Amino acid sequence: MPGYRELLSQVKAEIEEINALEARDRLDDALFLDVREQDEWDEGHIPGAVFVPRGNLESRIEGLVPDRDRALVVYCAAGARSAFAAKSLGDLGYGNVVSLAGGYTDWKRNGFPVDLSKGLTSEQRSRYSRHLLIPEVGEEGQARLLKSRVLLIGAGGLGSPASLYLAAAGVGTLGIVDADVVDESNLQRQIVHSTDTLGTPKVESAKATIEALNRDVKVIPYQERLTSENVDRILADGWDVIVDGADNFPTRYLVNDASVWHDIPVVHGSIYRFEGQVTVFKPGDGPCYRCLYPAPPPPELAPSCAEGGVLGVLPGIVGTLQTNEALKLALDVGDPLVGRLLLFDALATDFTEVHLKKNPDCPVCGEHPTITDYIDYVEFCTR
Ligand SMILES: [Zn+2]
Repeated sequence: MPGYRELLSQVKAEIEEINALEARDRLDDALFLDVREQDEWDEGHIPGAVFVPRGNLESRIEGLVPDRDRALVVYCAAGARSAFAAKSLGDLGYGNVVSLAGGYTDWKRNGFPVDLSKGLTSEQRSRYSRHLLIPEVGEEGQARLLKSRVLLIGAGGLGSPASLYLAAAGVGTLGIVDADVVDESNLQRQIVHSTDTLGTPKVESAKATIEALNRDVKVIPYQERLTSENVDRILADGWDVIVDGADNFPTRYLVNDASVWHDIPVVHGSIYRFEGQVTVFKPGDGPCYRCLYPAPPPPELAPSCAEGGVLGVLPGIVGTLQTNEALKLALDVGDPLVGRLLLFDALATDFTEVHLKKNPDCPVCGEHPTITDYIDYVEFCTR
């Protein structure tokens, strides 16, 4: 029976090792796997690394890295655990694996970049465990979500599911703009509110529900209607993404113009009866709302608020699609619906995608903008 030292040198003879200098050159192309224990990871790790403790490596690796040809750099504290890990990965069919000789200790000694950000608390690790298991989110992505700030325009049909799922996902700060109070006719679809909060401001009702769901989330209520007077003040509070759940044209145009001028992506959603629409307006990278509709239609052609019936679940579907886009934007993963309008027909259960082009003559984001200040359009309801 070989002793530990003998076994280690046997394993090291079977794997490939690189030194810290070589590893640094691979930061961009290889995935770094940290196989140490939680407390070691918490004290600092290589930026961008994925944390898989040695004891969970074999059971988790296929979920984390389905591609067996992916270039992997495995490291531990000093290069022994990672050598055994590299051997195991080779046995599992991973063909492009190297172990960092000298480990994190040598990496640090060389003065190479380290991520010292305090990781998640043990409660957060438990709460977001299903996020930590997918590499597109992981510990780093979850920390990013907790630092993210999303502004919701409206705490109604679309804002309800959006605020709940954003809060559940651990988006750390949610701003909510809404001037209304909870009315009985809202409860058919606005699930962030309840019979108990009838008559109270929607922003307060939503805040209470969200904080009961997740104390990691800070809600900033704006109990006011978005206008040309307050839009700059509210947006100046600093937002990564705007989720637009507005049900009227004046707000929709204000949000659009402000987002272009403040350079904040907008996840747009709208609903009418059985039809829903979702798209992402990302300034500088695709069309804006005015590229499609340079100005609102005349009020006599728009349906009035009272006529705007809707199947109760439809805003749930559209609002969660908006949330999916908002989370992707916050995490910087996947392909957002930029330049793509997703149409949903609830009666047929049918999704259609329409490509949208940026309009070079757009009055706001075009080459020669003609609108350079906010416009308060006359109030009427939209689809
Ligand atoms: Zn435009």
